[in-house]
Amino acid sequence: MSGEPTSTEPYRKPRPVIGELNGPFWEALAEHRLEVQCCDDCGALRFPIGPVCPECLSDRSGWRELSGRGTVLSWVVFRRAYDPAFEEDVPYNVALVELEEDVRMFSNIVGVPLEEIEVDMEVEVVFDHVAPDLTLPRFRPRAA
Ligand code: ZN
Repeated sequence: MSGEPTSTEPYRKPRPVIGELNGPFWEALAEHRLEVQCCDDCGALRFPIGPVCPECLSDRSGWRELSGRGTVLSWVVFRRAYDPAFEEDVPYNVALVELEEDVRMFSNIVGVPLEEIEVDMEVEVVFDHVAPDLTLPRFRPRAA
């Protein structure tokens, strides 16, 4: 969980559009917290970020920090770059991680060879400072 930028190269990949609604998510990541929205009325956690609770339709919400621990539900390996910005990463994985709090998130598994990624692998979040103003949540295998 190093706070140092992973690369000294400028970040050239597509960036998230950060606005009022999702700003707290990205700000928390910069401070090494994985947070999702929590409905003020029914308490449901939600991700992806949205203006309205899918459970009770309330538009009142705050943010809740997650444990950062989860398991791999599924993953794929990209062996072609569909965007030139990802060419140097090929082959790379995209995984669907289910957090302990029943929140699902697409991310990448890091710190393990592609062929060792497996369903139900226990993972934990790492905070990847890809640019001075952008931190991405990725997941690595949890120490047993
Ligand atoms: Zn709700």
